[in-house]
Amino acid sequence: MLLSIKNLKSGYGDIEVLRGVSIEVGEGEIVCLIGPNGAGKTTVLKSVMGLATKTGGEILWKGRDISKLPTHALLEEGIGFVPQGRLVFPSLTVRENLEMGGYLLNHRETREKNLESVLGRFPALKKYAKTRAGSLSGGEQQMLAIGRALMMTPELLMLDEPSLGLSPKITEEVYEKLMELHESGTILLIVEQNVRLVLRHASRGYLLSNGEVRFAGTAKELGSEKIMHEAYLL
Ligand code: ATP
Repeated sequence: MLLSIKNLKSGYGDIEVLRGVSIEVGEGEIVCLIGPNGAGKTTVLKSVMGLATKTGGEILWKGRDISKLPTHALLEEGIGFVPQGRLVFPSLTVRENLEMGGYLLNHRETREKNLESVLGRFPALKKYAKTRAGSLSGGEQQMLAIGRALMMTPELLMLDEPSLGLSPKITEEVYEKLMELHESGTILLIVEQNVRLVLRHASRGYLLSNGEVRFAGTAKELGSEKIMHEAYLL
């Protein structure tokens, strides 16, 4: 497995949110994390990124414990993160936002190459390269947040609710882009409230509730009436 989270206990300060969570993501996979509000889905992603307080368990990347690495080192290791709510820099241009995503890259040539590659992948971003990010639509900002994460050419991209606040049509466009990314070799770990949507794209996933994994299985299994009902997601 590429990413192995084993019996992870973590939270914020003294508050324990995850109470022994185990999750795996392998080569070529699209894995989803679903579950009700407050289940701890975001906390799983934040824990991997070194943005939560880990109190137990292991986080292995290619077999190596990464749980003590700072966030910038994780980005350099090939783990990308698109946080919930997009969080682009509104007063910077699209191009500047993308450049921020690549600020850890030492070589200017690599930064330029990656920038061109991201702009090539997202024609809308290319069109608005000199526009302030704050004036883009929600869907465009989500594309920008994804593009920014791609500046580091991650092997694994983790996304926190990429459909949040977007219309069904724009959501489809975002997922189309994610599928293109997957086809070009990027592994995806997606937290999503829109369960039906994500189960159409993921191969398997985990149902979290109250800081624990309640069920792990294929997308088909996760989509069963029983599991959906148990999760109060219907
Ligand atoms: P949602 O869909 O609502 O984001 P989630 O499954 O992603 O749900 P988390 O965001 O991981 O859930 O939150 C799990 C629990 O951790 C919640 O009870 C939340 O109140 C708490 N929590 C989240 N962030 C913090 C924080 N920075 N400090 C303290 N508690 C937090």
